[in-house]
Amino acid sequence: MVKAQTVIQRFEEFCPQWLSMEDDISGLQVGSLDKEIKNVMVTLDIRPQVVAEAIEKKVDLIITKHAPLFRPVQMITDQDVQTKMAMDLIRHDIAVYVAHTNMDIVDGGLNDWFMEALAVPVTGYLSETHRFPMMKLAVFVPTEEAKALREVLGKAGAGVQGNYQHTSFSTTGTGRFIPVKGAQPAIGKIDEATTVQETKIEVIFPEPLKEKIVKAMVAAHPYEEVAYDLYELKNAPQTFGIGRIGELPTAISIDDFIERSKKAFGLAEIKVVFPTKTKQLIKKIAICGGSGGNFYKDALRLGADVYITGDVYYHTAHDMQSAGLTVLDPGHYIETLCKEKIVALLKSWQIENNWELEAFPSAVSTNPFTYR
Ligand SMILES: [Zn+2]
Repeated sequence: MVKAQTVIQRFEEFCPQWLSMEDDISGLQVGSLDKEIKNVMVTLDIRPQVVAEAIEKKVDLIITKHAPLFRPVQMITDQDVQTKMAMDLIRHDIAVYVAHTNMDIVDGGLNDWFMEALAVPVTGYLSETHRFPMMKLAVFVPTEEAKALREVLGKAGAGVQGNYQHTSFSTTGTGRFIPVKGAQPAIGKIDEATTVQETKIEVIFPEPLKEKIVKAMVAAHPYEEVAYDLYELKNAPQTFGIGRIGELPTAISIDDFIERSKKAFGLAEIKVVFPTKTKQLIKKIAICGGSGGNFYKDALRLGADVYITGDVYYHTAHDMQSAGLTVLDPGHYIETLCKEKIVALLKSWQIENNWELEAFPSAVSTNPFTYR
């Protein structure tokens, strides 16, 4: 059996909570992760039908994009849909874990999956949300332990540079110390000057990983007192953003692209905002799945020919039209794509780690809209 926190830990290596937007609900919202689990269900929303499905399918953990509790709670009763769902989940020991905007922002996340479905190669993000300074860790370790420690640091996420992982630099030198009364030295004796051949390992990482990396390093290091330097770098910071911009290899007609979008999102129709002078041939596509009306100026700034986003507000649509931007609104529910994508990831981690785990998408449609 595998613990819920082990599965979530792996999930957060892919999609960390520190990539969430400010004031966003993310992480464990209901129940406990300190329990063994068998069935994990992935959903876009938690509605009463989804709770009923989870109970029926004996689900232990739900991973959802949208939090079930998103309005302030004053009473927990069965009179209110929101809190009744929480009560039912708790009664059946079903934990709920939320990954919201971090799933939109993370590299290889939801907006990348949309672009992949549209066959548009991604060139960057739409709007910057996070900027983290890079840090360097230099740690001194007995040379024979250096390889193992490099491995631990790499696994904790240190040394990622573009498409390269586990990058590091090592130099060998001499470490000197005198253990005094009270010390329990791994090498050397009390009051004896000791000399050890040590390796200095240097790795870089973005600031949010600092705690995790230092903790992993200290736990794996043989010394009682670990000697290390930690400093902020003046190198370019690591940035992340919401939405994506991409470019088709060759320009296509707007009509063809609309057809392509309907197919990619499984829609019979799609809402379109056409400006007075609509570009007939398009190449640059911007997207922000969910509700990204506010980011349309970023799409304009980046020179997008078409912007795809859901929940476009009537007056914002007028602004988009006046600004000369063609906008496709496929609705918020296209985010349901995250279900199968996260299930596929869970299954790959399950195989990798030999977990006894069943991961499946919720079979319930939570789209409140029907088209006739
Ligand atoms: Zn959403």
